[in-house]
Amino acid sequence: MKAARIVKLNEPLQVQELQTPTAIGSQVLIKIQSSGVCHSDVHVWEGYYEGIQGQQLKTTDRGVKYPLTPGHEIAGVVEGLGDQAEGFTKNDKVLVYPWIGEGLCPACRIGEENLCDKPRSLGIYTDGGYAQYVLVPSYRYLVKMEDDMDTDTSAPLSCAGLTAYGAVKNANLKPNENVVIVGTGGLGLMAIQLAKAITGAKVIAMDLDDKKLEVAKKNGADIIINSKKEDPVKAIMELTDKLGADAVIDFVNASKTVETDMQLLRRRAKVVLVGLFGGELKLSLVTMPTRAYKIIGSYTGTINDLAELVSLAGRGAIKPVVSNRFKLEQATEALTMLKDGKIIGRGVINP
Ligand SMILES: [Zn+2]
Ligand SMILES: [Zn+2]
Repeated sequence: MKAARIVKLNEPLQVQELQTPTAIGSQVLIKIQSSGVCHSDVHVWEGYYEGIQGQQLKTTDRGVKYPLTPGHEIAGVVEGLGDQAEGFTKNDKVLVYPWIGEGLCPACRIGEENLCDKPRSLGIYTDGGYAQYVLVPSYRYLVKMEDDMDTDTSAPLSCAGLTAYGAVKNANLKPNENVVIVGTGGLGLMAIQLAKAITGAKVIAMDLDDKKLEVAKKNGADIIINSKKEDPVKAIMELTDKLGADAVIDFVNASKTVETDMQLLRRRAKVVLVGLFGGELKLSLVTMPTRAYKIIGSYTGTINDLAELVSLAGRGAIKPVVSNRFKLEQATEALTMLKDGKIIGRGVINP
């Protein structure tokens, strides 16, 4: 099989001919039809995340090993099953849950494998979806898709969609509450759609770009705020009878956005931090107990969340927008375009 692999950091990916794996035991071999191109792939390719004070958090320090086939948003069909793999037959259309854990830590024991102490995520710690086939360690990590669901638009559900869904769930919104969604790119848009579909809360979208905000409005945002043109704190206070926001979900998560988030909160508000922009935050410590704020870090979601999300997507509640399609040989181009901000929706590789 062919796979586009990161051999050296920041250098073009190499399309290599590898042995197609065989599924044994509980394993399932998936023939990949669509593999989403995610911002994390850019970090894995560059080899670091931004830490505080310009310090770099290296992927190799987190246990990432190269050469690596990246890609963790994988949709395709079942090609081969080990003799202990149940519940699926050849050619079933499936979405792969990539946030695989070792199965034994306290997080895994309660189904939160995405927060495993020893993660084995596909496309990050083990070979992933920039390939013609991927070996999934167990049938338990597959979610069946309806036959009429498209693999290109479904693939991004397993990271982008799941991250947005996990964040909305972590905000624990009630119908009489409001939520500010900071950043209306792909993830923010999905969070707007999901918050409207499952919570009943009033959705306020915030961004610096009028065009993006118009799209946010079309996707269900009740109110839009351009924080470059108007003072976001003042705007939120006016909208909420001077009480503040019940929750903020920040898909940027940079020093500047979170500093603003902290100023527009109602008592008991939740701040859900999702984006991987990075930076640092100065906190007024006494305000934390007196106003009972909760700061929550949100990372992807559980396999059960993904099953729920696929069900929502099957009914059209969430529609990831695929804007660019690439061949395996164009993997480097796909990553470069994403890095340069030239992909508006989601890029998908069709190997
Ligand atoms: Zn674990
Ligand atoms: Zn991702």
